[in-house]
Amino acid sequence: MLAEIAAAAALVCLDPGHGTAPEIGRQVEPIGPGSAQLKIKDPGGAAGEAPVALAIARRTRALLLARGYRVAMTRTSPGYRGGNRERARFCNARGAALMIRIHADGSTDPGIHGISTLVPALRRGWTSDIYGASGRAGRLFQQELVAATGARDLGVVERADLTGFNWADVPAVLVETGFMSNPREGRLLRSSAYQQKLARALADGAQRFLSR
Ligand SMILES: [Zn+2]
Repeated sequence: MLAEIAAAAALVCLDPGHGTAPEIGRQVEPIGPGSAQLKIKDPGGAAGEAPVALAIARRTRALLLARGYRVAMTRTSPGYRGGNRERARFCNARGAALMIRIHADGSTDPGIHGISTLVPALRRGWTSDIYGASGRAGRLFQQELVAATGARDLGVVERADLTGFNWADVPAVLVETGFMSNPREGRLLRSSAYQQKLARALADGAQRFLSR
């Protein structure tokens, strides 16, 4: 019972990708703490991705709140005024138990489709504190998303080049919920029924991650 209460009080930080004000999005920021390597704050994402990511995040928030979790969102509208460092710091500052970065993919090949989950690669001093837990969360999310949608399983992929991971001090995953550029998957991603399926899978994945 006590464990249930503790788990229920956990804060989940939702980060709908992109949707950055253009004058901010074109600025650069260090890819990780102390790094001289700079990366653009927001290249904009796939066509139509930002509003889809926000819609999925809103639905996920509603489900998590209904299950007793606390939820914070890095953005709740277009016109976000930070970079990926800012998004990570937002979740860090709130002591989130988990950061879920919500995205969709794009490709020049319209035939490519499927779901993948990105997790931080191991780098001492940057991600060593969150590597294990993020990987565990990533495997749970990938499993839930593929099971809920029947989408092609593109696996869990470690990434060393993502600013939002390298600045995170809390377990973090980035779900690529499908390809906007694939006609069928793009249509599904824009539909409320599919968004709700994805949101349920994210809530289920978070619950599994947080309940042990
Ligand atoms: Zn994206």
